[in-house]
Amino acid sequence: MSEQVRAYYYSNPTARKDHECCECEGTILRGERYHKHWGVWDIEIMAFKRCKTCEEIANELEQERLEKWPDADPICFGELMDHVVEASPVLLTRFIGNGISRGQTFPQWMLDKTTPPAFAF
Ligand SMILES: [Zn+2]
Repeated sequence: MSEQVRAYYYSNPTARKDHECCECEGTILRGERYHKHWGVWDIEIMAFKRCKTCEEIANELEQERLEKWPDADPICFGELMDHVVEASPVLLTRFIGNGISRGQTFPQWMLDKTTPPAFAF
């Protein structure tokens, strides 16, 4: 489903308190810069906060997708994990490594898809 964007704003503020990244669900620490996307989709006002690494991965993946499929819908906020799992083991490894460093845990089936397979705990 494609939603119509009626307003969109972006900023790169410094966190005044801890936040949760909408992609890796890890912690964006107080004092850390993050990427804030805010807008009105259809009739709903929504805000999404991404950590630095998730923003970078999303931008890289979006660029790759546009080169392959110029008409593809953009990756929706909060759905980066689904796209990264399908994209490449290298991106998935970066995504999971970043999430783990931010206190997030991931299911074993995802760890098994990383390169090299599985993190040693
Ligand atoms: Zn993140």
